[in-house]
Amino acid sequence: MTESNQAVGILGGTFDPVHLGHLRIAQEVLDEVKLGKVLFIPCAEPPHKSGTNADAQHRLGMLRVALRSNPLFQVDEREYARKGVSYTIDTLESLRLELGDIPLCLILGSDSFLSLETWHRWKDLIHYCHLIVAVRPGWSGDPKTLFNGFFKGALVECADELHQQSGGLVYVHQVTQLDISATKIRGFLRQGRSVRYLVPDDLADYIEQNQLYRG
Ligand code: ATP
Repeated sequence: MTESNQAVGILGGTFDPVHLGHLRIAQEVLDEVKLGKVLFIPCAEPPHKSGTNADAQHRLGMLRVALRSNPLFQVDEREYARKGVSYTIDTLESLRLELGDIPLCLILGSDSFLSLETWHRWKDLIHYCHLIVAVRPGWSGDPKTLFNGFFKGALVECADELHQQSGGLVYVHQVTQLDISATKIRGFLRQGRSVRYLVPDDLADYIEQNQLYRG
């Protein structure tokens, strides 16, 4: 249906801060699914977290620093431009309107996937995109059995199938297991420990210069 390199990946998150776990899953899904690019979409007002640690402008600033060396990774600021809670379904609707009928691949860590039932209009997400579940350390679930089998008929084993339609499919990707989380990084920084090699060097410098997450 489309040239494979037109497919677009979407990685949403609070990115508080962005880290090598995020960058690595984006790279692996980009290669595996043969995406044209990955949009990193920082959440302005997270529905699921009670506030963030760094403010919205620093989370955006950190993302810009972390992505600047990779032209296939782009920061998309549409959730900052909207008022109110940042719901993924609204972001997908706006991307679909803007990008037309190309495959959109929403990349979710398995922890996010497991919490999907709590998301606003969760059953509608798949009408706008494919879901790519990136398996995080400690997860051994089976998407077929989750959510009363809601995604059973949508599961595909071959990434090429994601290029045959613009959305509606679920693909589970075994990413390199990096037990890195923003929570862990904030914890290290609070204790005055280094986060070098958990985040890009430029980002470690940005955090240091702006004295972020010092508690
Ligand atoms: P926090 O620890 O503050 O909850 P986080 O590290 O999980 O943050 P988010 O910004 O909440 O980061 O995550 C954005 C997306 O990236 C989510 O879908 C999450 O599951 C995924 N993700 C984050 N870290 C990893 C990792 N190490 N491996 C795979 N997926 C990850």
